[in-house]
Amino acid sequence: MEVRAKKALGQHFLIDQKIAQDIVEALQVEGQVLEIGPGMGVLTQYLLQRDSLDLKLIEIDSESVSYLLKHYDTLKNRLIQGDFLKLKLEDIFHSNFSVIGNFPYNISSQIFFKILEHKDAVGQVVCMLQKEVAERIAEPAGTKAYGILSVLLQAWYDIEYLFTVSPNSFSPPPKVQSAVIRLKRNARKDLGVDEKLFKQIVKQAFNQRRKTLRNSLKSMINDYAIRSSWPLDRAEGSMLSEFCAKEIFSLRPEKLSVEDFIYLTDLFSLTNEK
Ligand code: SAH
Repeated sequence: MEVRAKKALGQHFLIDQKIAQDIVEALQVEGQVLEIGPGMGVLTQYLLQRDSLDLKLIEIDSESVSYLLKHYDTLKNRLIQGDFLKLKLEDIFHSNFSVIGNFPYNISSQIFFKILEHKDAVGQVVCMLQKEVAERIAEPAGTKAYGILSVLLQAWYDIEYLFTVSPNSFSPPPKVQSAVIRLKRNARKDLGVDEKLFKQIVKQAFNQRRKTLRNSLKSMINDYAIRSSWPLDRAEGSMLSEFCAKEIFSLRPEKLSVEDFIYLTDLFSLTNEK
């Protein structure tokens, strides 16, 4: 008996074995790995072949869990039945781990926000998701797809778009194209500015992405802050260093790199100190 695909759980089972192998091969790690949403185990079978991996799995669907336990008896103490978004990762992993999965597309952004909360433990992520979301995450500044998740993830991860997967590689086929991406934790230890303020600025700027920063960040800026001239030496490494600090506010958020958002956060902290 196969698992009956449930739409509400984002179940589209990958049926192309070559693609499954390529996804597992894209994971360049040893040690602890968490697979999110194994379904019927199309990736799991190849992950289990790698002796250097210490695999754990989380699957929300009881029918998939029964199927997996029946077909792979080595999964008994590794497979958790539950919701990844509610999983207490610190109870399961006491040191660094990596993440792999063909993510349920309806919650892929939430999965990434959770990974960001554990960015110092998660060394690498290889995942399949909806192509648009994959592009959004992987694209550099200046492109249309660039957004909140791109900035927040690119601050901490080097991100590669690996390949596109067409709907007919799945059963049932999804309505959208899919893509596989890889995220590798970069060397950044901290931002050098207040991280909460950084996130707040990024979110507020992109929530009104058609507006210039002067307008989207209005509630955070006072007139004094806009008029006063800020020290440009803070802009080192920023593509805006050639601009007057004031000009940053005439831009739209998609023009700003991670470094620019850090610079912007620094400007805000300075004026808050005054
Ligand atoms: N890896 C399988 C299945 C992908 S479909 C394959 O490639 O064929 C997405 C899987 O994620 C489904 O098995 C679904 O039941 C599971 N899932 C959905 N929401 C989940 C959640 N919140 N936590 C854990 N697993 C979830």
